[in-house]
Amino acid sequence: MARVALFPGSFDPFTKGHEDIVLRGLRLFDQVVIGIGNNATKKRYFPLDVMQEMIEKTFKDRGNVKVITYEDLTAHTARELGATFLLRGLRNTTDFEYENGISQVNRYLYEEIETVFLITSPHLAPISSSIIRDLHRYGQGVDDFLPYSLTELNRLNRES
Ligand code: ADP
Repeated sequence: MARVALFPGSFDPFTKGHEDIVLRGLRLFDQVVIGIGNNATKKRYFPLDVMQEMIEKTFKDRGNVKVITYEDLTAHTARELGATFLLRGLRNTTDFEYENGISQVNRYLYEEIETVFLITSPHLAPISSSIIRDLHRYGQGVDDFLPYSLTELNRLNRES
């Protein structure tokens, strides 16, 4: 049976830190599905459809990476996909505290699911979506932190 992992997150925006987790996850799993969670109560900074397109572009040469958006619970989405693993990244103890609780709940909701945590690569540890949003809000270039072109992202942003 193919080992499918769902990598869930807000990805607002998707960063080089996230890309690293996907690429390392591909050494463990047959397929990695990147799931952009769409929380209706939370307003995004970068539009969902634009971010989906940027992530798809990032992995366009890899047939074993798929990008979806979802509104359901992560555990239910994984079950529907036939994914028996959740992939998450850990940067520090704050991440751990948060992830610990979520992974327990996910296993309560879907017994067969195992969350696999990859420790961040040291050079990518300081990268977080919230810091990138702050930099971008004040006009600071953030291309160094992203695996795709922000120029294109801005163009799509203007059109959407
Ligand atoms: P969420 O809103 O669900 O926390 P994020 O998009 O912020 O979603 O992050 C998705 C996952 O990627 C989380 O497990 C987070 O810890 C991990 N992650 C974020 N940035 C990095 C990084 N620089 N290195 C490793 N993992 C990371």
